[in-house]
Amino acid sequence: MSQLPTIRSRKLEIEYNIPISKTKKFWDGLREGKIYGTRCKKCSKLYFPPVADCGECYSSEMDWVELSGEGELITFTHIVVRPTSFLNEQPYTIAIAELREGVKALAWLTGVKRKDIKIGMKVKLAPKITGDGRVTYEFKPL
Ligand SMILES: [Zn+2]
Repeated sequence: MSQLPTIRSRKLEIEYNIPISKTKKFWDGLREGKIYGTRCKKCSKLYFPPVADCGECYSSEMDWVELSGEGELITFTHIVVRPTSFLNEQPYTIAIAELREGVKALAWLTGVKRKDIKIGMKVKLAPKITGDGRVTYEFKPL
């Protein structure tokens, strides 16, 4: 008698609780029009969005680094079927770009027509304050 393999899947949820004090500079920076990442003091790995602890060497010694926000588009996707939390939004484009500083960033891409979006195009990460007062960031063509 053959036995079918049992496939078990378990949802793995990892929650990051980063104290607000450790990310405050990032949010304040956005409000001032600046993009900050963090760089590990021990192994120099750069992070965006900033993290409080290095995933490479587990050090918690991080430096704030202001990033240019400028980069090149690596990939993008148009989201037409939106998750419920974004139903009020128009279809949007999510993009990943590699910033000049060598770190990849994920954000919405706005300010460019869909047909004009090209892999390799220059983009800039720009802080944005939403209608309801939240701070976020998005890519704009450069
Ligand atoms: Zn490190």
